[in-house]
Amino acid sequence: MKRIALFGALLISAFAFSWGYRLHYEIARTGIPLLEEKMGKGFTAYADIIARISDLPDRWKTSDPGESPNHYMDYEEFLARPKVSPDSDFEDIKKAYGTGFLKDNGTVVWAIESYAGLLKQAFEKKDYIRIAVYSAVLAHYIGDLHQPLHATRNYDGQLTGNKGIHSRFEATMINLYWKRGDGVEAEPEDIGYGNIRKFAIGIVEESLAAVERILDADDMARGEDPLFSADKYYKILWDELRELTYDRFSKAAKRYADLIYTIYLAGGKPALEYKELPDLSEHTQVDKPKLLSSPRSTYYERKNDKLFAYMIGSALVFVCMILLLKKM
Ligand SMILES: [Zn+2]
Repeated sequence: MKRIALFGALLISAFAFSWGYRLHYEIARTGIPLLEEKMGKGFTAYADIIARISDLPDRWKTSDPGESPNHYMDYEEFLARPKVSPDSDFEDIKKAYGTGFLKDNGTVVWAIESYAGLLKQAFEKKDYIRIAVYSAVLAHYIGDLHQPLHATRNYDGQLTGNKGIHSRFEATMINLYWKRGDGVEAEPEDIGYGNIRKFAIGIVEESLAAVERILDADDMARGEDPLFSADKYYKILWDELRELTYDRFSKAAKRYADLIYTIYLAGGKPALEYKELPDLSEHTQVDKPKLLSSPRSTYYERKNDKLFAYMIGSALVFVCMILLLKKM
């Protein structure tokens, strides 16, 4: 289980190994306005709410061990064992590769497909809370899909002497140098609801092809500054990767808009209106697809579980006290 080494780091921070709050927020915040003409202000008015909770899937990692694989796909591992086409449906993939393999090598493609199904239902029912939550979850996974190091088994440069590049690239470099780019100008397109897995695999392939550039930039920057200082190592890394980073970012925003638009069409193109929503920052009281996650991992249920454990615990203490008193 090669991800076990990461477990400690994940315990320290659920936010490790992810584009970070900032880029996930801005992918949603940039993608959603592209939808105004096609979906109306009744959807785009939720842009900020959706963007603010686009880190939910990272927070789920702390309570749900099945959540982590939803954030990546080590594509070479699938290619090295060509059992079924990598864009097969989840049941066929699970049968061919087994859950252990998928836990190690990722399920982001099928997470996107499953949440697309849930968002489609939310559009059909005009369930605004679920529309916001599932749109946020999809913004997150689409963002991860565009992070090249989420598409490779060499996800932390550990196989090529670039150990630590994952967080140097997506967290430290971004925090030091990334500035919000100009809005993306593009017309959202219908990618075909039945085509979502193919669409996602296409992005994985593109991300994997970009991994080499990140490792080369790391080699170059480390050659100049093995101590990773902000003004030398990170400056070189940024100079080398600025263009790639903005390209991955703007593609993510545009594809996110494409995906949401496609699901909206499949969900019957409902006329939406802006409604005041409760605070969704801890709001995970929504269904989750089964995949490898435990379906019972919502915040609400966990709160109830705690209450239940507390009641059982209190009852046990009470019984013990009665027994002790009887003996005295
Ligand atoms: Zn993530």
